[in-house]
Amino acid sequence: MGGFIIKRCFSKTSFQNLVQFIEMKLIKNIRIIVFLYLAFIFSSVLSRNISKDTQIHILLRLKNASGSVQIFPSALLYHKDFAYSLTFDDGLISVYQNALPLFSGGLISQSHMDEWKTDQGGDGTYSKGLFYSDGCGNLIPFRASIAINYKNLENENLPNRGYLSRREVLKIFQSGWGLSNHGYAHQTKNGTDYSLEMKRNQDSLRKLTGMDTYSFVIPGGEGNPDYPERYTTEAQKLGMDLIGGNQGKPFIWEVDSPILSLPIRYQRKFISSNAADPNSYRDTINCFPELLNKLPKDFQGKNYWINEFTHSVGKDNVWGLGLNFNTFSNYMHKIEKFFGAGGKDNIWFTSVEEVNDYLHLRDFSKISFTRKGNLLDIQIHLTKSDLHRRFKSLSLILQGDEIQDVKEITGITSMHYNAKSGLINLKF
Ligand SMILES: [Zn+2]
Repeated sequence: MGGFIIKRCFSKTSFQNLVQFIEMKLIKNIRIIVFLYLAFIFSSVLSRNISKDTQIHILLRLKNASGSVQIFPSALLYHKDFAYSLTFDDGLISVYQNALPLFSGGLISQSHMDEWKTDQGGDGTYSKGLFYSDGCGNLIPFRASIAINYKNLENENLPNRGYLSRREVLKIFQSGWGLSNHGYAHQTKNGTDYSLEMKRNQDSLRKLTGMDTYSFVIPGGEGNPDYPERYTTEAQKLGMDLIGGNQGKPFIWEVDSPILSLPIRYQRKFISSNAADPNSYRDTINCFPELLNKLPKDFQGKNYWINEFTHSVGKDNVWGLGLNFNTFSNYMHKIEKFFGAGGKDNIWFTSVEEVNDYLHLRDFSKISFTRKGNLLDIQIHLTKSDLHRRFKSLSLILQGDEIQDVKEITGITSMHYNAKSGLINLKF
């Protein structure tokens, strides 16, 4: 299958379209923190024989015929300063009607009075979408994640339903958003069969999307104090490699060090329009400054990952656990203006699942290269488990020379590069 796609993508004409030379401001000083792969520069033979398990092979022609070059994976995709992941828990309909069109472009819903008599509509306007760039001249829409309880999707024939339908979940998934298992029926109380809750949900979501999710978000609610730990134990047994809850990595953490063990347990910052909860309370005035306060003024080569979550994003606040649409929309626009395509362009606004997949590919794939004259031969070996990931991308940074053109490519579905900055974005 890969062969076909590559052939199609990299026929001479479409390849020229794909690879773009974009005049861009030079990406600021790149600091190599981990994973510096030194070349066997001037190695006697440029190996054209790709070893059996090297899935990716790129042969580049450089501008110069000598000098030392370095190739290493970027800490985050597209060489961004920080990743921002937003998750919408419990599968409320306003995510599909308001958040998806706000991010991807489209009509935001007007009024939607739901089964609980809360209005999950938005402002009824048309959104052009919210974007950042890939560092090679292409705009990418903001993408978030949904943490789904499948049981909530089963009343999809209810008039004025408050939850998503299966079709809507699938559409969100197909838009490239992340999907987390949140337990089949959001059970937390005594007598919960934690394993069954997760498995049932996992099976149903697999049937719907055709893919397994390895991301679990522990449901909140009343229960024995140890219930999150019980969920965590069972989630590990099921092979989840991402567990969101009140334990683990802080909701902003530095991601430059290699991921050494699985699963990643991470905390998320809850944001809502509920003034009774001052810790989570957000309005149009404080929402963006709260985010700014979390981030360092100067990244100094360090890279961070921020995780936030909420529930509904309609005019009314469902159960006091969501953001009012105006606050949400205002927050997202400010993020784009400051950190997105309209500003510094240093944010990677994507799902927790995509960031997780990237960090694993970054840390577990093996990258080697050889140089002979102006030819640079890069080989990337991926582990078996990484080949099964949903989001398979890697950004490499080339230092010491500039790419003249691409001679050969094997094993990838798309490649974009920026000759000036040395950024190479690969999807496979
Ligand atoms: Zn929940």
